[in-house]
Amino acid sequence: MVARILVVDDNPTNIRLMEARLKAEYFSVVTASDGPTALKICEKGQCDVVLTDVVMPGMDGFELCKRLKRNPRTAHVPVIMVTRLDRQSDRVAGLEAGADDFLSEPASTIGLVSRLRGLIRLKSLTDALMARFPLAENSEPLADFSSLSGDEGSILVVDDNPRTYQQVQRHLGTRHRVDIETDAHEALFKVAEGSYDLVVVSLNLSSADGLRLCSQLRSLDRTHLMPILVLVESEDDERLMRALDLGVNDYVRTPLDGAELKARVRTQVKRKRFTDQIRENVQTTMELALTDGLTGVRNRRYLERGLVTMIRDAYDEGCPLALLMMDIDHFKAVNDTHGHPAGDAVLAEFAKRVSRAMRGIDIVARMGGEEFVVAMPETDVHQAERIGERLRAVVSDRPFVLPNGEVEINVTVSIGVSSLLPEGDTPERMISRADSALYRAKREGRNRVISAAA
Ligand code: GH3
Ligand code: MG
Ligand code: MG
Repeated sequence: MVARILVVDDNPTNIRLMEARLKAEYFSVVTASDGPTALKICEKGQCDVVLTDVVMPGMDGFELCKRLKRNPRTAHVPVIMVTRLDRQSDRVAGLEAGADDFLSEPASTIGLVSRLRGLIRLKSLTDALMARFPLAENSEPLADFSSLSGDEGSILVVDDNPRTYQQVQRHLGTRHRVDIETDAHEALFKVAEGSYDLVVVSLNLSSADGLRLCSQLRSLDRTHLMPILVLVESEDDERLMRALDLGVNDYVRTPLDGAELKARVRTQVKRKRFTDQIRENVQTTMELALTDGLTGVRNRRYLERGLVTMIRDAYDEGCPLALLMMDIDHFKAVNDTHGHPAGDAVLAEFAKRVSRAMRGIDIVARMGGEEFVVAMPETDVHQAERIGERLRAVVSDRPFVLPNGEVEINVTVSIGVSSLLPEGDTPERMISRADSALYRAKREGRNRVISAAA
């Protein structure tokens, strides 16, 4: 999708110029000549990034940014402040108002496009995650950008020119932990081993090629997500372009402007923490959402979704599909006799025995309590009955030994089998037929396998 950039400026000529530049780079452009109009456009979700002028009558750029960041409906829209080179204090004020980035050289198309791309990437990551993990009304966000700090980062500076690395050290040392590395090879190892938040790479190394280091960092598994900020000589647009093509996250020109370096480093550290937090939360959310905590097999939600796909594939390919519904016999007695923790251990061992007996393409899921389901693609009812028998035997043949090794418990299971109807079947119906068969297995004496009437 083409990213939509909202340009906010009170000067119509500036708007037209910026619009032309952005369109030449294939962005789609929306414009507003004042803050209140911009707020409305953002509220309606009609833009992906806001590019705002600082000085405007009425609501200025800082105020616009603060209001956007305060409103939960617009807080995730990235804001870039367009400041002039001679207004250093504006940049700091902008970042304090919650701006995500600033353009210190508004005339540079490389600067404009690279900063927009960085923010669009970040926004599409959060948009995609929010779409996949819709949050309940009051739940915690996956990550909260505004509450994260960009200070006390752990930063590796790769530079072999004492004059510049001492400057960098001086500018960053008070807020961050800074390591200097003069050897590019060594740097690669350090990044792979260490826990840095950001790597600052000079493109002017005398003993190595800074671009090669960036490319290696981007291609290694252990370092490819590491944010990179490059230091590049003022006129060296050629190398800067190549660095941006390699996927570096940001750049600062030399001779260094301390305030700009500080601000950009802070922004990168903050973004790193933000994406780390999202990634961690998504991982936990996915695990929690799809597996059963006690036994480690899939949960009911996973099974129900998986069955939808399995049924569709079976119909598409004309293959059979079968389901086993299992319920441990007299399980209540295990709890009553040996205690609830012993019951839990039996459930975990039961899940383990069943999982081991099944194929990778089957789904083993705990439906709740002592009820489990196995879904088996490309399996007809006769094969399913045989597999049911095998599972029944796997459970009853050997007693369950409790973790303390002293108590042995004899366990049996009753199993109901259902198979896919020739047409119009659903997960609910398949489960319900297997459940009825299971009920018969219980009634007829337990420890047996019964098939649903077709
Ligand atoms: P039946 O042969 O008819 O299936 O008898 P049953 O005792 O297995 O069935 P019932 O439904 O009466 O009892 C199920 C028991 O499973 C009751 C409940 O306390 C126990 N249970 C459910 N979930 C858990 C769990 O997570 N851990 C433990 N230890 N017990 C559980
Ligand atoms: Mg039971
Ligand atoms: Mg039960």
